[in-house]
Amino acid sequence: MCLAAPRQPKPFVQECSLIMAGLLRTLWLPLLLLLAAHLLIPAWQDLPRAFRPLSGLAPYAAALLAVVTAAAFNQGRTALTGALLALAYWSLESAVDAAHADPFRAATFYAACTVLVPLNVLLLRLLPERGLLTSHGLLRMLLLALQLLAVAVILLREISGPLILVGRDFLPPLIASAQMPDAGLLAFVLALALSGWLLWRQASILDGGLVVALLALLLAGLQVADTAAVEAYLTAGGLVLAITLVLQTHHIAYRDDLTGLPSRRALNQRLDSLGRRYSIAMLDVDHFKQFNDTYGHEVGDQVLRMVAGRLRQVRGGGKPYRYGGEEFTIVFPGKPVERVMEALEDVRQSIEEYRMVLRDRDRPANKRQGKAKRGHRDGRAQTVSVTISIGVAERTETLRTPDAVLVAADKALYRAKKTGRNRLST
Ligand code: GH3
Ligand code: MG
Ligand code: MG
Repeated sequence: MCLAAPRQPKPFVQECSLIMAGLLRTLWLPLLLLLAAHLLIPAWQDLPRAFRPLSGLAPYAAALLAVVTAAAFNQGRTALTGALLALAYWSLESAVDAAHADPFRAATFYAACTVLVPLNVLLLRLLPERGLLTSHGLLRMLLLALQLLAVAVILLREISGPLILVGRDFLPPLIASAQMPDAGLLAFVLALALSGWLLWRQASILDGGLVVALLALLLAGLQVADTAAVEAYLTAGGLVLAITLVLQTHHIAYRDDLTGLPSRRALNQRLDSLGRRYSIAMLDVDHFKQFNDTYGHEVGDQVLRMVAGRLRQVRGGGKPYRYGGEEFTIVFPGKPVERVMEALEDVRQSIEEYRMVLRDRDRPANKRQGKAKRGHRDGRAQTVSVTISIGVAERTETLRTPDAVLVAADKALYRAKKTGRNRLST
């Protein structure tokens, strides 16, 4: 059996504004760091001579931070992306160092950085995460090592073929860069476009960091002659990777995987920071064990997602959490019970009225047909619905702690169950 919610198309504007809000949430910090790096370039250029060796190490330190953080979280893709940033910095430095004495060496290093690095960053993003010191992780390292070896052979044997190939101009002069080979620009455009598209599809903090790190690398590549700019941008790139990885991990730890709601851990933290007035509601799906037994666990999971979706729309400033299993909590900061009853009643009713269509998994053979049929009841489709019971309590002089209010809400929930379910009790 497979279950489909009746299709409720979101208005285009609403969908776009949701996506934009997600992008803003994921991109503001990485972009702020990049902007800070950009604004710091003049100060970076004016650093006293004694600081130069230190500032030259900053991009390596930032990349190392990303690699170590990623390794600690067993995130092979991000660890290797951090290593690629360090390699990119080394290549750009080597290109600048060799610019006068050995133009071939300089051009090879520059091409390797601008063509190979973005393509590898993109490849890593497209591959599934499989850890660092695993067979997949080691295979990916081998792939990078082989490319390094190829570049080394090209340099040692002074093989000019690849450079001539990469150096070919094919972009219109208007968008071509004087500095960067067209192939490099194209590699960056491809990497940015695809990782940007993935970010658009699902705003993840780490993807936001990746897009900004690529942007930092592009800016560094375009201003290769400006040592301070290269150092500032690539330091920002490494920091962005490390910080977004930590934020993403934090986000995952505090979010329930099935419903996407904040988890019990997040609830506990919120409870610690409530003021002197608040209400807490406990919600529980009615006869859910029976529902699972009848329709299967998978359908049950989808019902929990549907319930979470309804809870997200709760009014009155309520913030929903998944307490555990088929139990949810809504916290209303600053609100006494009488001011949240209506919002809770609306939630209860919206779940009661929600009809989900069950259909045989293999009936709509092709996906488009299945999609088109969503929400239609053609006589053969069966709909299911669930109800929830709610108990709510507020902070009072006798219920002084969030834990006590939670227990009181749980008791109220028990009363709601006792008196027939599908109701709100205080
Ligand atoms: P009541 O109306 O008294 O709440 O009855 P109930 O059957 O809902 O309560 P009970 O606590 O006996 O059963 C809860 C069920 O919720 C048991 C378990 O199978 C189901 N459940 C808990 N977590 C999940 C989950 O993540 N997915 C699914 N599909 N089912 C879950
Ligand atoms: Mg329960
Ligand atoms: Mg239940």
